[in-house]
Amino acid sequence: MNDEDRRSILKCVHCGTCRAYCPVFNEYGWESTNARGRMLIAQQIDDDSDIDDSFRFSLDTCTTCGICEQMCPSGATPPDIVENARAAVVRKAGASKAQEKLKKDTVEWGNTLRESRQRLHWLEPTEREELPDKCEYVYFAGCMTAYRYPEVARKTFDILRKFGVGVLQDEVCCGSPLLRTGSDASELI
Ligand code: SF4
Ligand code: SF4
Repeated sequence: MNDEDRRSILKCVHCGTCRAYCPVFNEYGWESTNARGRMLIAQQIDDDSDIDDSFRFSLDTCTTCGICEQMCPSGATPPDIVENARAAVVRKAGASKAQEKLKKDTVEWGNTLRESRQRLHWLEPTEREELPDKCEYVYFAGCMTAYRYPEVARKTFDILRKFGVGVLQDEVCCGSPLLRTGSDASELI
């Protein structure tokens, strides 16, 4: 655990405010499924504790929505701690089947959605052909925008291209979904 996370955990005064806001705790009701409990579990990873499924369940069920961080009166940062703890679990006990599958799919398909469509499908074929090879600035659409909200990519790029912005012709996933779930994303980055 890095010093920043350790300091953040020490800020927690166990007031329980986060319990009132965490959407996952609202469903499960276990202390291990709210920010306060997750931070205590994250603290154990560096010890000699055996990493079992209960560790993974606690960390993996956090959506990292950040509500707890916004509401925390002490300035603790649970989402960052959870993300770093997921990576620590993988380093110590290996990836889960779900993590392995997400990584394999994302690297293989270049996106998290197993989409086989051209990444720049939101541009007309003629527009794709006319794209400049080099630009000082590029618009990075990302997986969700490219495949689930292509009209957002389209309209954003329509504005930006007026200022000479291009796109990456070989854009693939930036690796954020892997990093946030504890996997090594260096192949994509
Ligand atoms: S709101 Fe902050 S200080 Fe209070 S229990 Fe949750 S993380 Fe700890
Ligand atoms: S970031 Fe995680 S712990 Fe915090 S409120 Fe959201 S789901 Fe709960």
